[in-house]
Amino acid sequence: MSTINVNVVTPDGTVYEGDVNMVSVRAQSGELGILPGHIPMVAPLAVGTVRLKHDSSRELVSVSGGFIEVRPDKVTILAESAEQPSEIDVDRALEAKKRAEERLNRAKQEDIDFKRAELALRRANTRLEVADNKRR
Ligand code: ATP
Repeated sequence: MSTINVNVVTPDGTVYEGDVNMVSVRAQSGELGILPGHIPMVAPLAVGTVRLKHDSSRELVSVSGGFIEVRPDKVTILAESAEQPSEIDVDRALEAKKRAEERLNRAKQEDIDFKRAELALRRANTRLEVADNKRR
């Protein structure tokens, strides 16, 4: 089966590098599935899970925004932050989730930055999804 090379890069360095049969990302315009030979494209990403499929194995990486650049043989994901399952501190993500939920509840009464809390909640939920997948 043909493959496409994927790099997930953050300001702290490379989080993932490998050849896969398919990569799926959450772009701001919706879910994108990319196969080898895809037409060149650049798109902004949402907070979400990157799914990497290679033969029968599947890997997940959490990504909090950034950009995807697609070329026929190479995908580069430039992310503000990204984590492999083994790098995720579940307790920290649970704390972040709790904090964000409290802020969202209070935002109904107070003028707290709703969008910021919503994004923090999405980052925490994405990390929990990716970490949880490892344990199964
Ligand atoms: P927190 O409130 O816990 O800091 P956050 O969503 O605000 O979470 P980010 O600003 O997205 O954190 O990330 C800052 C740095 O911390 C990044 O390098 C990111 O990879 C890392 N990071 C954030 N949460 C976790 C986590 N649960 N496990 C491991 N690394 C994390």
